[in-house]
Amino acid sequence: MKAQEFYNENDVIAVVTTEPFARFLDYLAPEGGCKVGSFLILPLGKRKVIGVVWGAGEGNYERSKLRSATSVINVPTMSYTMRRFLEVVSDYTITPINLILRLCTRVPDLTKPSVTLKVFSLVSNYTDFKKTPQRDLLISALSKNKRSKLTAKEIVSISGVSSAVITAAARAGILDEQRIERDSPYPALDPDFKPKKLNSSQINADKEIRHVQKQNNFTAILLQGVTGSGKTEVYLEAVANALKNGQQVLVLLPEIALTSEFFNRVKNRFGEKPAEWHSGVTLAERRRVWKMVSSGGAKLVIGARSALFLPFINLGLIIVDEEHDQSYKQEDGVIYNARDMAVLRSSIEGSMVILASATPSLESWVNAKNGKYKHVYINERYGQATLPSLLAIDLRKEKLKSDEWISVSLKESVTECLNNNEQSLLFLNRRGYSPTTVCRTCGNQISCDECDARMVEHRFIKRLMCHQCGHTKVMPDKCPSCGIEGKLAVIGPGVERLAEEAQRKFPNAKISVLSSDLYGSAKSLKAEIQKISEGNIDIIIGTQLVAKGHNFPKLRLVGVIDIDIGLQGSDLRAAERTYQLVRQVSGRAGRTDNKGMALIQTYQPEHPVVEAIIKGDDDDFWVSEAKQRELACMPPFGKLVGIVISSNSLDKAMSLANQLKKNTHPLDILAAKIYGPAPAPISRIKGRHRIRFLVKSPRTSGLQDAIRNWVATVSLKGDLRLSIDIDPQSFY
Ligand code: ADP
Ligand code: ZN
Repeated sequence: MKAQEFYNENDVIAVVTTEPFARFLDYLAPEGGCKVGSFLILPLGKRKVIGVVWGAGEGNYERSKLRSATSVINVPTMSYTMRRFLEVVSDYTITPINLILRLCTRVPDLTKPSVTLKVFSLVSNYTDFKKTPQRDLLISALSKNKRSKLTAKEIVSISGVSSAVITAAARAGILDEQRIERDSPYPALDPDFKPKKLNSSQINADKEIRHVQKQNNFTAILLQGVTGSGKTEVYLEAVANALKNGQQVLVLLPEIALTSEFFNRVKNRFGEKPAEWHSGVTLAERRRVWKMVSSGGAKLVIGARSALFLPFINLGLIIVDEEHDQSYKQEDGVIYNARDMAVLRSSIEGSMVILASATPSLESWVNAKNGKYKHVYINERYGQATLPSLLAIDLRKEKLKSDEWISVSLKESVTECLNNNEQSLLFLNRRGYSPTTVCRTCGNQISCDECDARMVEHRFIKRLMCHQCGHTKVMPDKCPSCGIEGKLAVIGPGVERLAEEAQRKFPNAKISVLSSDLYGSAKSLKAEIQKISEGNIDIIIGTQLVAKGHNFPKLRLVGVIDIDIGLQGSDLRAAERTYQLVRQVSGRAGRTDNKGMALIQTYQPEHPVVEAIIKGDDDDFWVSEAKQRELACMPPFGKLVGIVISSNSLDKAMSLANQLKKNTHPLDILAAKIYGPAPAPISRIKGRHRIRFLVKSPRTSGLQDAIRNWVATVSLKGDLRLSIDIDPQSFY
């Protein structure tokens, strides 16, 4: 599209709105004109909507029918690279650009003027007032603080005095009261505040990264090193360099709402806390982050995947920590992988992106091996910490009692830890009490009424729950199928049931169950994690939640209850995921000086994945996994696309799928294989029937165009939906 810098009032402009139209809309520029990239308020039907100026209008509409944009919103214009990024994401994910624009305008009250905030500062040299111990505290805290203007809340937190003392001090002339903009810049970060002295492995990694960073153009780096090797410290040095260059930096972390540890680390390193962007941040603060990112008042943002769509103006570095983590993939609404989009954004910005992990995704590992990414290793754990020793417990030899899952050897090791006042972690990636409830008379398994999924018993909330749609119901007395009473039995363990067994076996131990559904809010979960890191818990029972970057200094033993669960099924990434998860979880043990241990319970110790984990030879694992994928022409060696057609009517969904199957010409040109249509592995969710295609293409270029042309051959009427998942991570 042709774009000029400025459009005069009544020029015809092309606008992208946040409404679901797959095209640009023509408007007349508002009073006072507008720029390319300006955010506008626009009339649309009877409503007012937000849009961004993309360029000159096409002029295909009669001028007299065009409406005038209402006004320009008082925020900085959207940069060229940001607009380009949105276009490329839209093309890559085959999603209308409007929905992508929505991802970056998800900020409250964008159209409203900013609010002000009351702040206080110390009046210097004023001594003519009554002295009290409270006032002494107040004055000493304020005079030591770097920033001079603070809100009452901030003063309360640094000085410990009550807000009444602050108000009185203001009245007595000790403090000066002022109003400033709520959306004010974040305190400056000092790149030289407190750098850590790096060890020799870290110095080498830092040198390599520094060398690339100097060249100041697009590079992707895979920073690989075992848990605790000091990757974070190394990439914080890269952050420091970017800050010195006046650039903005984005650090993406999975499950960021659950931990404050990282923010404290940043504060220790740079003297102040960075801007924070995730679901746990207040609306007012999110608005401040958005505005400051777009005006340069925020230099460092630590965020969840959606932070990638913030309007940075000078983004010099993106870090994707734990880059293999599944939570980077957004699976509903706009389907995208934040890790891949981070690489894309860096390539458009001409900047550096660092993907950090102890257990990279196979995709990134292959990209590093073939030279597309630069591979930087850190080879040892930092300091005295050594990697935990790994052992398999062969459950064929050590028989478990019925309805028990902790073997005798695992029990002995936990007891030893308890005696030494050290923590153990029992890992089982299953929420709830028990995954299956079955009728002993007729064999019926209780499943969800709306989904093709078993209901999972959650004893904590005393209900059965569907993990697909969240629907719950009470446990029935009679079997819903045969009607016979008292014959329903639970089979297999979830974390809640495992906790019962642990409490029986270790009656004096303090046990905590870490599972996302057991806590009402991220805040209470965060508090529990904090309690564990402080050492106030003896045994942690957890789902994959515990694999994520938490630092539990007293943790010595990790017991993996059932590694075989993850290896079953036909998921392309089953091996890779189990490998990553178990390596990550066992990496939690022995992070400080004492040697950690991981015990892995399995019925198949000779399984290649189990053997690779025990041997601890990461490269071996990736080499063999890569070879298998290559033979099967699977990602990253070929491209996969998942297409799901859904409707309340199975016939309608199936007939649309058959229509698509009849005309696959656009894909034939790429020699792509089309599997399906077939009922998706979960064939019904929330009452909607799901029919799936999998497209496997040896070529990547032209794939999106081909898919777009293919699905355009059918039209979606009524409640029919078609979703496209490029590079699917889960197959359901
Ligand atoms: P990773 O990110 O690879 O898991 P971290 O960077 O979190 O590793 O380092 C593990 C621990 O070692 C952290 O507590 C960290 O503060 C400490 N650490 C790492 N490098 C250094 C260093 N050079 N000086 C002091 N402490 C360090
Ligand atoms: Zn359901």
